[in-house]
Amino acid sequence: MKKLVYFMIVLFSISLYAKDEPIYQVSTLNALLAGNYDGLIKVEDFLKRGSVGLGTFNELDGEMIVLDGKCFRAKAIGEVVEVKKNETIPFGVITNFELEKQHHIEYMMNLKDLKDFINPLFINKDVFYVIKVLADFKYIKYRSVPKQERPYKNLSLVIKNEQVIFEEQNIAGTIIGFYFPEFMKGLNVVGYHFHFLSDDLTKGGHVFDFKADNLLVILDQKRQFVLDLADGSFMGGLKIDSSSQ
Ligand SMILES: [Zn+2]
Repeated sequence: MKKLVYFMIVLFSISLYAKDEPIYQVSTLNALLAGNYDGLIKVEDFLKRGSVGLGTFNELDGEMIVLDGKCFRAKAIGEVVEVKKNETIPFGVITNFELEKQHHIEYMMNLKDLKDFINPLFINKDVFYVIKVLADFKYIKYRSVPKQERPYKNLSLVIKNEQVIFEEQNIAGTIIGFYFPEFMKGLNVVGYHFHFLSDDLTKGGHVFDFKADNLLVILDQKRQFVLDLADGSFMGGLKIDSSSQ
C-alpha cells in the first residue's frame, strides 16, 4: 500500500512538473543594455522553445512579438513583418503559454489599471508570469527601435535618441507580457514588460500605455527558467549590476 501511495505521489508530481513549461531566454537584459545587438541564435531554434514571446533582432532591428508560434518584427517605420527562420536574435524570451486563469474585464482600463488588476491575482510574487491580453483597444501607444550599425551605442542612448513612438486608435490586437521578480534584475526586465501585435498583423511594438474595455486577461504562472548564453561572445555585457538599469 505504501508503495502505491508513493507511486501515486510521484505520478502526481510528474504531471504537475510536466505542465509547468519553462521560460527560455537568450542572453541577458544587461548584455542588451550594454549594446550587444549581434544575433546569437536563429529564429527557428528560438521558436522550438515556445509559442509566445518577446525580444529583439540582430542589430536591434525592431521589436519582437511571438504569437501562436510565429515570430514578428515590428519595425521602426511602423510596419510588421513575419521574420525569416534564419534571422538571428541577440535577446529574447519565449515559452509555451498554458491557460491557467482567465478574467474578463468589462470596464475601461489603462496599463496601470491592468497592473493593479493583475497584482493581487499573483499567488506568489517570486515566480514568473506570462500574460496575454486580448482586446479591441480604443487607444494604444507603443514604440519600436531602428536597426543599428557598429560601433553599437548602448540601449538607453538608442531609446533616448532614436525610438519611434506610435499611437493608434480603435485597433484589435493582443498584448504579450512577462512578469519577472526583483531577483531577476540584470537578467530581464523586473516587473512587467508588454509587447503588442494587432490582429491584422500590421502594427506592433513595445507598449507604453493603452485604453480598452472588454479585455480578456489570461495568466500563466511559470516556475522554471532556462538561460541560454549561446557562445558567450557578449560576456562584456553580462555583469549583473544595478547601475546600468
Ligand atoms: Zn520591449
